[in-house]
Amino acid sequence: MSYDFNDAKEHIVNSYGRLEPVITHGEGVYLYDTNENKYLDFTSGIGVSSLGYGHEKWIKATSKQLKTLAHASNIFYTEPSVKLAKELTEKANMSKVFFANSGAEANEGAIKLARKYSYDKYGDGRSKVLTLMQSFHGRTITTLKATGQEKFHKYFFPFTEGFDYVTANDIKDFKKKLTDEVCAIMLEAIQGEGGVIPLDKDFVQEVVKICNEKDVLVIFDEVQCGISRTGKMFGYNNFDVEADIVSVAKGLGAGLPIGGILCSSKVADVFKPGDHGSTFGANPVACAGALVVLDELCNEKTFEKIAKKGAFIKEFIEEAKNPQVVDIRGIGLMIGIKVKCDPALVQKEAIKKGLLVLTAGKDVVRLLPPLVITKKELKIGLDIILEILSNIK
Ligand SMILES: *Cc1c(COP(=O)(O)O)cnc(C)c1O
Repeated sequence: MSYDFNDAKEHIVNSYGRLEPVITHGEGVYLYDTNENKYLDFTSGIGVSSLGYGHEKWIKATSKQLKTLAHASNIFYTEPSVKLAKELTEKANMSKVFFANSGAEANEGAIKLARKYSYDKYGDGRSKVLTLMQSFHGRTITTLKATGQEKFHKYFFPFTEGFDYVTANDIKDFKKKLTDEVCAIMLEAIQGEGGVIPLDKDFVQEVVKICNEKDVLVIFDEVQCGISRTGKMFGYNNFDVEADIVSVAKGLGAGLPIGGILCSSKVADVFKPGDHGSTFGANPVACAGALVVLDELCNEKTFEKIAKKGAFIKEFIEEAKNPQVVDIRGIGLMIGIKVKCDPALVQKEAIKKGLLVLTAGKDVVRLLPPLVITKKELKIGLDIILEILSNIK
């Protein structure tokens, strides 16, 4: 038998705003539901399915690993994790990596790492982490508090202490908040959930320069904008700066859960045995899949293609001069279309027309298509979006 939306509502905790289709399978850049509807996917499961669905090499690698070894505890090393660690740190130009299972877990670990670095070197009282207003860093008690949006700081008191929030792109505000208590700043190069807002290059460069002078660690949360999403390895590579810590997840998994904390040489040996752990972390199957992601998507040729596809989307929307469109922003295949109407309405209408899109905040239609999408497929979806916007009064 097949299950529908109402069965799901009866048995699954109602913590998400859900859409109607119950998804059954995927192929290429298309998803299908229990009513045999077909959808062009501009969401990638929120930036995860970067290789689309049914990617042959990824399936081959993960199935093979599944049969060989699905799990071994972190008391041991496994080959896929060592191989992934080597490839990932090389491509990221970082020293070492700790593997986790999700973005929130990676960020939580990144915060622990920054605090321990500071404690080891300077002792107590230097544990504050700055983040940006409108940021999003996860759903654990600590990463909720790290998230610079008041609406997330409700119900779950007491939250973890030691966070302060800087207005994005406001260097004066940053300098004001950068007290002697601060050990790190955590930034999304492009704020995702906050509305697809790329940071200003000047701001990022100045922040990194000042942090380096004061030995304040720079953490980039690359959970959404990392792993080729913007046509570079990481979103922050668009700003020509270096990071001390980088958190990754979503797109590295391509369908399986994985997260990682990438460490520069400065922090690579801060965690000692017993300081941090994760039972499922470095899962061999997830690692085998992630190796295919690196191989397929993290190279100059693919970077170039992704950048071109991003430019194509922007041009296409700009040239249409649709009166509902206020702004189009983002880098590569992480795009936000700021609209006058309710983006949730656009999302609902798009489903009826066989297209899946995301929203961000109250006024942005967010596009995170699989990175393997073609221009032709992009055009099909963009035409649908423009048609919907044209029909809105
Ligand atoms: C999605 C996201 C997270 C949280 O990742 P989970 O895997 O859902 O825990 C953290 N930071 C950013 C920038 C994200 O987009």
